Formats: sequence, structure tokens, C-alpha cells
Amino acid sequence: MTSSDSSPGTLPPGTLTFAFLGLGAMGDPMARHLAAGEHELLVWNRTASKAEAFAAETGAQVAQLADLTRADLLISCLPTSAEVDELLSSLPNLKPGAVWLDCTSGHPDAARRQAEMLSLRGVTFLDAPVSGGVAGAESGQLTVMVGGDADTLERIKPLLTFAGQITYVGPTGAGFAVKAINNALLAVNLWAAGEGLCVLAGAGVDVSAALSVINASSGRSNASQNLIGQRVLTREFPATFKLGLLAKDADIALDVVRQVKGSAPLLAQVGGLIRGASRIIGEGEDHTAALRLIEQMNGQVLRGSG
Ligand code: NDP
Repeated sequence: MTSSDSSPGTLPPGTLTFAFLGLGAMGDPMARHLAAGEHELLVWNRTASKAEAFAAETGAQVAQLADLTRADLLISCLPTSAEVDELLSSLPNLKPGAVWLDCTSGHPDAARRQAEMLSLRGVTFLDAPVSGGVAGAESGQLTVMVGGDADTLERIKPLLTFAGQITYVGPTGAGFAVKAINNALLAVNLWAAGEGLCVLAGAGVDVSAALSVINASSGRSNASQNLIGQRVLTREFPATFKLGLLAKDADIALDVVRQVKGSAPLLAQVGGLIRGASRIIGEGEDHTAALRLIEQMNGQVLRGSG
């Protein structure tokens, strides 16, 4: 099959050319799994020096935007759909039959617009945000939630070597909607656990002991089990997932709520708190640093005893 007789979402047999766009905290470790595989990998990053360092380490090739015309599968992982729009507006012609997998935690409306725009160029767009954090990207165990054409996803699934679970969730935009609601739930659990622990600290309870009990009890969550002990009680707050990005996800979730005329006052309230925390604590801080605002609200510091 030649590229000229390809139909959208139909990849040619044999060695493929991948292009990875955006080597940030997530993109870099995701792209490393692709670089270790059998297919050719082009990498593009706004700050070109990162792409050059990545290529030198992995054997991938640094791409200019004009080179993307060769790619069979393009994977983007940028902060928001706005940066994806920006990139799409400066692209060369793409290969007819190519697939664009956007792993950004983007906006469902943008996905629908972008899918339509790319389909006019013979390219199939899938919204495919990921979950599992930097650790999941490094271990190749990300959860990927995909919206768009299910048959195209089936064809490219074996190529997504950064994933532990790939789930088709519905038409274009559904992947972004699921991701936004998932992260709104992360925000709710994180915020609620922070409030609870600050109250217990105020009552004179050892917060390490309290967290250990909660993690063996019904109040536990991913935030209590995998984030608060490791990032907050240690006072390390390693910036792997920026607070500003969590605020963006919570905002998208609220757009989804509004679009379906839903009633989700808890998501709205926590979304507002996370947006405020991002502004006060700093959008570039780790998302767990939102608890610093709760500490200020309670006159407490959550410090581990062990
Ligand atoms: P980072 O901020 O670490 O990386 C962002 C990437 O986007 C960088 O490559 C950056 O390039 C590039 N970029 C920023 N602005 C532009 C622009 N205007 N034009 C082109 N490229 C741009 O973000 P993450 O990797 O943490 O997040 C990426 C996406 O993944 C986000 O949507 C996030 O919500 C989501 N996500 C993040 C997780 C995490 O744990 N970090 C977990 C799951 C999802 P440059 O190097 O030049 O700055």
C-alpha cells in the first residue's frame, strides 16, 4: 500500500515512522518506550535542546515541523488543547492515512474541532489522554482513555508501548471528558484528605499515625495512599504534575458538567478551590502543594513523624 491509496487511520505494513511532539514530564518517558521499539521515531519539542538531548540518548531523530509529513503516527503531549491548536496551525501537509493521537489532557470541544480539521487532510484524530503520572510513563504502565474511531484505535493499540491499559471510551472528545472527570475526582480526594488531616493535626493527633489508619480504613484514596505520605508529610512536593494543570483539568470537568446541564456542586466547589490554590501557591508547584493552602487556612503544617 502506498500513502496515496491509504484511507484514514490505515497504517501501512512494515516499519512505521512515529513522531512524538512534546517531551515534557510525561512526553519524555512515554517517547522513550517508542524509541526502544522497532519503528523510526522523530521527536519535536518547542525547546529544541530537549529534543536534541533526547535524540542523542535514545537514537531518535530530531524533527523540524516540515519532517512531520513523513509520520504515520503522530503523538502529542502538550499542556492544553490551546498548544495543540497552535501546533496544528503551523503544520505542513501530513501523510494521508496517518493517525494523530493526542495524549494531552485536552478539552472535548477542541477534540471535535481538531478531528474535523485533520479529517479534511485524511488524518484520523484520537483523543487519548493518559493517567498514571510520571512513574506510570517511566514503567510503561499508563492508562490510556481513547475517544474517536474504535477501529483506528484497534489498529494502533499494539504500537502504544507506554500503556498498561488502553480503553475505548466513546466518540471524539470522550477520552478528554473521562480524563477531566477523573482528575476532578483526584482533586476532590486530595483536597478532602488534606482538610481531614489538618483538622486532626489541630486536635493534636500525629498525622503519620492518622494517615496510616486512614490508609487501612474506608477513608483511603489514591491521594491518601500514594501522594500525601510521600509528597506532603515529607515536605518534598516533587513537581511531577503541576498544580496549574490540575486546575485546568478541573475547569474542563466543569465545562463538561455545564454542557450536559449536570448537577455537580462538589466538583464545582473543589474546582474553585484548586484554581485558587494554583493562583496563591503557584501553578508550577506540584499538585499536592494545594495542601499548603489548606494548611494556611487551618494554621497547621502537615509534617510526618517518621
Ligand atoms: P510539562 O509542562 O512537563 O511539559 C509540557 C510540554 O509541552 C513540554 O514539552 C513543553 O515544551 C511543551 N509546550 C508548552 N507550551 C508549548 C507551546 N506553546 N507550544 C509547543 N509546545 C509547548 O507537562 P506534562 O508533561 O506534565 O503534561 C503534559 C500533559 O499531560 C498535560 O495535558 C497534563 O495535564 C497531562 N498529564 C500530566 C501528568 C503528570 O503527572 N505530569 C499525568 C497525566 C497527564 P518546552 O520543553 O519547550 O517547555
